Amino acid sequence: MVQARVLAVANQKGGVGKTTTTVNLAAALALADQAVLVVDLDPQANLTSGLGQKHDNGNAPASRTVFDALTNEADPVLDDYLAPTSVPGLSLVAADDSLAGAELALVGLERRERRLRPLLRAARQRFDYVLIDTPPSLGLLTVNALIAAEAVLIPMTCEYYALEGLATLMATLRRVQTTFNPGLGVAGVVLTMADLRTNLGQQVAADVRSVFGEAVFRTTIPRNVRLAEAPSHGLPVILYDVRSRGAEAYQTLAREFLARTRGGPAAAEGMMQRG
Ligand code: ADP
Ligand code: MG
Repeated sequence: MVQARVLAVANQKGGVGKTTTTVNLAAALALADQAVLVVDLDPQANLTSGLGQKHDNGNAPASRTVFDALTNEADPVLDDYLAPTSVPGLSLVAADDSLAGAELALVGLERRERRLRPLLRAARQRFDYVLIDTPPSLGLLTVNALIAAEAVLIPMTCEYYALEGLATLMATLRRVQTTFNPGLGVAGVVLTMADLRTNLGQQVAADVRSVFGEAVFRTTIPRNVRLAEAPSHGLPVILYDVRSRGAEAYQTLAREFLARTRGGPAAAEGMMQRG
């Protein structure tokens, strides 16, 4: 049974809701009195900007970024990396442009797949949950997240091609399990941008459930424009428009997530074999 508290939010497809799920699930957990840390491991830094933080060139960053944690030899001091957010109880390890050079910088370093682990080991002592947002690839950054994490959370759209590419993701998870992180589990699959009023939406959701079974969260995230608008205000949807369907969905997801991770995602266990 996985008592997952450090989770990588991963799917090598872009635009499936990784960043949206990271920020809004984290905010909903924080408002449910959990101490939560989000880590931006995507060079596009959408998570960082979506939480109202900017690490522009020329401006001295208020805190160290995840790039420093990946490339520093010494033990990272967690406090140097923590940026506050507008959500009480939610902290951020930010990314900036420098992260775009990280894949290349990492190649020349020792333990290049395990560079994120020390920072997250420290974070695990302080936070109830740590969610790592990953880029749309299965390169070294995502591998670092999978090795530092206890479980992976997979957002997936309810579109026709949703299941395409998942065999590659599952093969990567298995490789990480056998080489570096045998304890890596699957915390679940989140269906995003769902339109269950359409036949296609229902059909795809049914297909995903037939493949992943109980690993799929019962809560689905509907398509909701408030979710797309909130990042430009630097806010999670729950602070931007608490009454929106998007805000309600992520709060429901947070409740289901808490029930599952506390009880252990036993339901997700068959998934690694099937996937
Ligand atoms: P990823 O991080 O996987 O690339 P994002 O979370 O950035 O995906 O989502 C891709 C785009 O879709 C973003 O513009 C985001 O605002 C928007 N989006 C994500 N989820 C929803 C949703 N449920 N409803 C409407 N727009 C969404
Ligand atoms: Mg993203």
